[in-house]
Amino acid sequence: MGFDKKWAIRFLDDFADRVIENKQLLSDLDQAIGDGDHGVNMARGLTELKKVLAEKEPATLADVFKTTAMTLLSKVGGASGPLYGSAFLGMSKAVNADTLSPDTLPDVFEAGLNGIENRGKSHAGEKTMIDVWEPVINAMRQNEFTSDAIEAALQKTKDMKATKGRASYLGERSIGHLDPGAYSSALLFQALLKAEGE
Ligand code: ADP
Ligand code: MG
Repeated sequence: MGFDKKWAIRFLDDFADRVIENKQLLSDLDQAIGDGDHGVNMARGLTELKKVLAEKEPATLADVFKTTAMTLLSKVGGASGPLYGSAFLGMSKAVNADTLSPDTLPDVFEAGLNGIENRGKSHAGEKTMIDVWEPVINAMRQNEFTSDAIEAALQKTKDMKATKGRASYLGERSIGHLDPGAYSSALLFQALLKAEGE
């Protein structure tokens, strides 16, 4: 069994659907500790991605991730556009075959995480999307990649104090709210989990 181009397109299309479905919720979360645009930003980018992938299928698996990076970079905006763009660019560079085996999947997402960290100058514990990416990739490596693991990582952002991004302006007052970027990343990994099982 392996993960090929068609699989990646299915995964990304499902991620897009989940973001579009949760657009309001993502913006509401951002309203609490940011400027309220995360759902609108992400839904705009992922609506475009669905269109781009449907119109012209990228040539290779790496190209699927590269096209995703470019589309999110140009259409999402805010802080999250460049961050997700860097993630998928990193993933595209880490793909070196037309089909990924299950044991190389964590390495590909790790490259995505490195892209976010480099772009955001950020690391785990700062109440950002990284607080989903890092624990979930670790769970993948331990063969514990489950819906509960994703949800647990997301919920942990609630009690964190933001020290990066717009939410950091709130200091202590950022505590008690889920991070919107962590929420959209949880949607990404839920879509990945579903695609893995198909
Ligand atoms: P903006 O903050 O510009 O309005 P968005 O609302 O689209 O952008 O995205 C906010 C999300 O981006 C946050 O919830 C957080 O998860 C993520 N984020 C912001 N800054 C960073 C950073 N430096 N590193 C990692 N993630 C970040
Ligand atoms: Mg925002």
